[in-house]
Amino acid sequence: MPTPRIAVIGTGTIGAQTLWQLAKQGVDATGYELFSPGHSRGAAGGETRLFRHIDVEHLEYLPITDRSDVLWRELEQESGRTLRNLTGALAIGSTASPATHTALESAVLLGSRAEVLSREEAHQRFPQYRLHEDEIAILDKGAGIIFPERTVRTAADAAVARGARILRECRVTAINQVGSQVDIVADNGTERYDRVVVAAGAWTATLLPEVAPYLATRRLISSWYLPKAGNTLDGMLPYLRTEPNYSYGLPTADGLAMKLGVGFRDHLPIESPDTAPLRITDQDLEPIRAVARDLFPMLEDYPMRAQAYFEAYTHSRVEFLREHPSMPSVFVCAGFSGKGFKNAPAFGEHAARATLGLPPENESMAFILNAEPVSRPAPA
Ligand SMILES: Cc1cc2nc3c(=O)[nH]c(=O)nc-3n(C[C@H](O)[C@H](O)[C@H](O)COP(=O)(O)OP(=O)(O)OC[C@H]3O[C@@H](n4cnc5c(N)ncnc54)[C@H](O)[C@@H]3O)c2cc1C
Repeated sequence: MPTPRIAVIGTGTIGAQTLWQLAKQGVDATGYELFSPGHSRGAAGGETRLFRHIDVEHLEYLPITDRSDVLWRELEQESGRTLRNLTGALAIGSTASPATHTALESAVLLGSRAEVLSREEAHQRFPQYRLHEDEIAILDKGAGIIFPERTVRTAADAAVARGARILRECRVTAINQVGSQVDIVADNGTERYDRVVVAAGAWTATLLPEVAPYLATRRLISSWYLPKAGNTLDGMLPYLRTEPNYSYGLPTADGLAMKLGVGFRDHLPIESPDTAPLRITDQDLEPIRAVARDLFPMLEDYPMRAQAYFEAYTHSRVEFLREHPSMPSVFVCAGFSGKGFKNAPAFGEHAARATLGLPPENESMAFILNAEPVSRPAPA
């Protein structure tokens, strides 16, 4: 059988991993990229992402994260680049919340890879955090920081080294099923492929209008805080906290500042990153500054830097990993809902296998693949 020609639209977080996996299978694969792999204008900017095993929603993610762990190491070995710094991370939450119950169940599954800390124990070991009376912390020992721009670039480079082609600065404007094949209309003209993977992140809803009802596209703000004079971030771990508002934070690689972000409720709805406002106001910053004031009294409460990034959520928060509704040769990877980086290698592997007609590598992926996607009409 001749080798199929496969196009990957978007070589960001998921697309670059997919392209690497396709290249490993010896497939004739082409990536299309609006900018260039490793850019920070989509979902993969801001120098750090949290890698964690503890989950606050679905226990089924653990085997997917374990598989990703294996693939992260493989990519690091193949490229000779360090892509993560596994310092450990904290999951913080109220003992009364369902999210904390799920996190505690995760900790049981992790066994010696996790440690549950009372508020007092957490305060002793991590004095920079000011937990509420009803909160505990779970130390996820194999968690840590991923370097997103470096990772995307490295996966793309690894794909090219294995024979893939990447068209940089090349926007795809239309995708048309033609018989069993697909035409990709892009800045460089039209090319025909046997199969296509779309991994266009926050641009998916405008590129694939039929998928738009399943997605909520958002602008997310990251902001960086320095310690107040006389304080240090030494020994500070990345964290995730589910109440009173969802928030997370990661120390910068140089250890000089803490990057903070908040959850879906506080993200600006947008149509596309192309038209989203980039100016960040004090009103935009307030929910994140409130986290700094509440959880980290040793941090300054006004950021030294703030930046906007873009992400597609699903209404259920379960990833949209499936065939396009009317184009059977197009596989769509979208809606990673603010948590797709840590599992990007496993999702990329799945997209490549699905496109090649191979069964999922990981059976636990079934809960995502079988989930009925939730659609909502666009607001009038
Ligand atoms: C601020 C922020 C913090 C986050 N924190 C975490 C975290 O700590 N841990 C975690 O696991 N996840 C985290 N996430 C989520 C994670 O980063 C995303 O789920 C993931 O990066 C999404 O990947 P993607 O491939 O869908 O999008 P992207 O990485 O944005 O890739 C999409 C790519 O498609 C390209 N593209 C789009 N349209 C076209 C077109 N028409 N033609 C050609 N190319 C096109 C874009 O240029 C881009 O390169 C966070 C997300 C954000 C925004």
